[in-house]
Amino acid sequence: MAHAFVHDATPHASPEPRYRGRFAPSPTGPLHRGSLVTALASWLDARAHDGVWIVRMEDVDEPRCVPGAAEAILATLSRLGLHSDEPVVWQSRRHAQYEQALAALTARGLVYPCGCTRREIADSLTRVHARNSTLAYPGTCRHGLHGKTPRAWRLRVPDGEAARIRFDDRWMGPQTQDLATEVGDFVLKRADGQWAYQLAVVVDDQAQGMTDIVRGADLLDSTARQIYLQACLDAPTPRYLHVPLVLADDGEKLSKQNGAAPLVLDTPETTLSALKDAATHLGLPTSLAYAPHREDFYAAATQAWRSRHLG
Ligand code: GLU
Repeated sequence: MAHAFVHDATPHASPEPRYRGRFAPSPTGPLHRGSLVTALASWLDARAHDGVWIVRMEDVDEPRCVPGAAEAILATLSRLGLHSDEPVVWQSRRHAQYEQALAALTARGLVYPCGCTRREIADSLTRVHARNSTLAYPGTCRHGLHGKTPRAWRLRVPDGEAARIRFDDRWMGPQTQDLATEVGDFVLKRADGQWAYQLAVVVDDQAQGMTDIVRGADLLDSTARQIYLQACLDAPTPRYLHVPLVLADDGEKLSKQNGAAPLVLDTPETTLSALKDAATHLGLPTSLAYAPHREDFYAAATQAWRSRHLG
C-alpha cells in the first residue's frame, strides 16, 4: 500500500492525500481500558503515517450521552498527551449537515419513510424466515406506508451482486457482507428523531477528509453499510483497520455496563502503565515495557507500529 510519505517517481501523478485519521468516542461514560486501546491505535497509525489525528466527539445520540462524560474523556486524553491536531468536532452541532445528506439521498430516491415498530419487524421476520432468521429488515415499507405513520427513514440497499460489499481490513483481512440478506434497508434517522450513527459517521468522515479509520472490531459489522452510504453520497471510501476488542471477564466487549473501570491516571507511573497495557493488547513488542517516560514510550510504540502495519 502506498502512503503519503512514499516518494512517487511519476512526474504528473497526483499526490496521495495526506493521512487524516480520528478517534471518535461516544460520551456515554469515561474512557476505560478498551477505549484507550482504540485511542492509542488511531493515534499511533496517524503518527506512523506522519498524518493528522483529530478527536471527534460522537454526542449525536442524545439519550445515550452522559452529562460530563465528553469533558472527562477530553481531560483524560489530555493527561495522556494525546492532543487533537485540529479543534474537536462535536456531532451535536452538525444536525444541519445530516439533514442535508438525508435530503440529497431522498432526492436520489434512495430513502423512504418507514412506519414499522420494532415489534412488527420482529413478527414479520419470524413469519418470513422462521426461526433461523437473519436480522435483515424485510422491506415492509419499501413500496409505501400502507396507511401507517412515518417513524424512521431508511436507506434502500441494492439486491443481488451489488449488495455484496467487499473490503480489505488492514488488521482483520478481506471482508464481505451482503447488505440485502444480512442487513436490509437500514435506518438513517430514527423513530425518536435522532440521527443514526451510520449517517452521522459517514457525513463527518467525508466532511473531515478522513483517509483512514482505525477503531474497535465491534464496528467491523457496520463498515459495509458505511461503504455503501459513501458511494450513495459520492464520498471516497477510506482505508479501515479494526483492532481486537478488549473483553470483560464475561467474554463481552468491555463497557460501562459490565464493569469497565474508568482509567486512573493520577501519576506519571499509572499513566505510563495504562499505555503499556494498551500497547500489549495491540501486540506491540514487550520491550516497550522498558520505556522510562511517556515520550520514549510514544516514540518506540510509533516505530513498532510503523514496522508492523506500514510497508
Ligand atoms: N462513536 C463510536 C464508539 O464510540 C465509534 C465510531 C467510529 O469510530 O466509527 O463506539
